[in-house]
Amino acid sequence: MIGHEIYRGSSYGAHHPLRVPRVSTVMDLSRAMGWLPRHQFVQSPRAKPNALTGFHTPDYIAALQAAEATQSVSPVVKARHGLGTPSNPVFAEMYRRPATSAGASLLAGEMLARGGTVYSPAGGTHHGMPDRANGFCYFNDPVLAIQSLRHNGAAKIAYIDIDAHHCDGVEYAFADDPDTLLISTHEENRWPRTGAITDVGAGNLWNLPLPAGVGDDVAAMVRDTLILPLVQAFRPDAIVLQCGADAVLEDPQSRLAWSNNAHRAIVQALMGVAPRYLVLGGGGYNPWSVGRCWTGVWAVLNNHEIPDALPDAAQSVLRGLQWDGQRRVKTPPDHWLTTLADAPRMGGIPDDVRTRVATLQARLRQWI
Ligand SMILES: [Zn+2]
Repeated sequence: MIGHEIYRGSSYGAHHPLRVPRVSTVMDLSRAMGWLPRHQFVQSPRAKPNALTGFHTPDYIAALQAAEATQSVSPVVKARHGLGTPSNPVFAEMYRRPATSAGASLLAGEMLARGGTVYSPAGGTHHGMPDRANGFCYFNDPVLAIQSLRHNGAAKIAYIDIDAHHCDGVEYAFADDPDTLLISTHEENRWPRTGAITDVGAGNLWNLPLPAGVGDDVAAMVRDTLILPLVQAFRPDAIVLQCGADAVLEDPQSRLAWSNNAHRAIVQALMGVAPRYLVLGGGGYNPWSVGRCWTGVWAVLNNHEIPDALPDAAQSVLRGLQWDGQRRVKTPPDHWLTTLADAPRMGGIPDDVRTRVATLQARLRQWI
């Protein structure tokens, strides 16, 4: 696991969805469970500005550094680079924090040169664009991870994105690259409103928009009938999984209704399918559900069994979380404080989802 203390206490501002702790919860919960011995933790380096130019423009990187230093942006910079907006605000660590998650993704490519598995829960900022911040993402660390994996020996890379939002920045980067397979599930009609099922790119784009309200049954069907067959047919040298936690029912930024069991089952299903495996975070805006989901991901990657009831040390991490400035949860329900695995939320499979999956399966049969 690559992590860093910079995420602890860092906030995009009192009213922003990213005011909640996330990576620090995963580190604390994993340690409280006895699942994160020192030799499994790597402190993330901060990417040097030059290392970011594989995807980002020097002007944008400089503008972001200047905005952090002065804690302000001019109207010109705001318009050109998307900085200082409600989504992408000026905040204390607005350069150092994303440069640290980007540093983790660049390092992951090196660590995986000879194979293995790396988990970077701070990664997954899939909306970042070359010249501007987008959707809470200042840099696009998944793009940088794919570039780093390639630089370190992986020719064919499969990127799977189960965040509730479409990975527009990653698609922008690799839509014309037949050696990068991109698979995204996301809620339909939700920002950024890209990721149509009809996008094919160089034959490498596979988008499945999902209607609001679908749960674990849909996630399992998509995993077994689309994601796995596609990845297996592609025979990648590396898999990158963006494991955003905002498709769970309790997340305030989407209306999908997965349980975190869906995430863990997808993480598990992709283990061993390629010699290199990088798992990133992504969205996730309910502090309890994101911390529990991503700690469960770490358990799966290490074959740790998740107990029905958490030990006291882990419960106290969850009891210490706060979600200020929101009204939907007055008191967190007991299972957010005492368990990691949700109760399943099967939900059935709507007909229109079956039709969409069948459309992509027909394309898959032509492709292999
Ligand atoms: Zn998201």
